[in-house]
Amino acid sequence: MKTGVFLAFFLLGEIPCSALGFLQQGGLLGVGTGASNSTLFSAETPAGLTAEEIPPVLEMNPLSPNIHASAAPSRAEQVMRALLKAHPKRIKDIAFVDGDWAVELNGDWYFYAEGKILPQDIRSSSEPYTPQPFYNYPKDLPAWQRPTKEEAARLAQLTIARRSQQAANRSQFFYNALWGIHNRAEAWEQVKTIRFLDKNILVHHAILEELALVEQQITKTARNNRQVRQWLDSIGTISAWNWRTIADTQSTSNHAYGMAIDILPKTAHGLETYWLWTAQKREDWWNVPYSARYHPPDAVVKIFESYGFIWGGKWLFYDTMHFEYRPEILLLNNIAITGQY
Ligand SMILES: [Zn+2]
Repeated sequence: MKTGVFLAFFLLGEIPCSALGFLQQGGLLGVGTGASNSTLFSAETPAGLTAEEIPPVLEMNPLSPNIHASAAPSRAEQVMRALLKAHPKRIKDIAFVDGDWAVELNGDWYFYAEGKILPQDIRSSSEPYTPQPFYNYPKDLPAWQRPTKEEAARLAQLTIARRSQQAANRSQFFYNALWGIHNRAEAWEQVKTIRFLDKNILVHHAILEELALVEQQITKTARNNRQVRQWLDSIGTISAWNWRTIADTQSTSNHAYGMAIDILPKTAHGLETYWLWTAQKREDWWNVPYSARYHPPDAVVKIFESYGFIWGGKWLFYDTMHFEYRPEILLLNNIAITGQY
């Protein structure tokens, strides 16, 4: 596999988006054709066009032939459609309005704003914020290959970039509003203690049903799957809500929303779990094949994914203990969420 392909298959996960550019060049696939029922988004506007792509005459005259019908949806449109589909209980509408795609949440419109997802009053002062990463997430892990010299050099650079971005200020307006959490006190109001795989964990109340179904599926699968059974027996700790930022950054971790869960074994038997811990022992944290990483069984990853959770083991900056509720990421990558929501 060539350099670009190797890197494009992975994703950077919880890193500030400035380093994501090269991955985004690969682009995301469409997210389905769920039509907007917005009153602001004219039904006649050709689907899949950004403000820049819609010639003024076409915008003005809905009867013009749809000459851009074959144009791929913009990234802004894809992301907004994915958010609507991922969070139907909370997001009521999307629209192309005021020159950008926007979602309606709690009566407020949040604009795509190059991935920053900003409320109207912040759009004109968006400079201090970095975008939310809506990254590529592979359906299956591609076979592991040792990075070439050039790839390793690139990864070393990315590591430095990540570490020097401590001041990165990922825009949190949208996700704070989505989960109703702007500070620790609000978070405490939203989280609940539940029993999950025989441990007590604190999670956001919005994902209780999903987690119950994940647990049910895992338990059921364990009956006929020895690997899953052994994995269940090996679990040491499970932790979820924790008021913290992402290591090495100022960005709110999904653990702070109670949307992320870390599952660690009693003993890792020398396997690596988290790139940052590995990097404390060896600089080339990327030179760890999957066989030397702690990986939950595929079946477990698939079950989590089918209810809207991504697995941190698929991130380039791997975090193999980590699952987090990001149905929009799965939808953007054409991975079906078969569970109820
Ligand atoms: Zn985690």
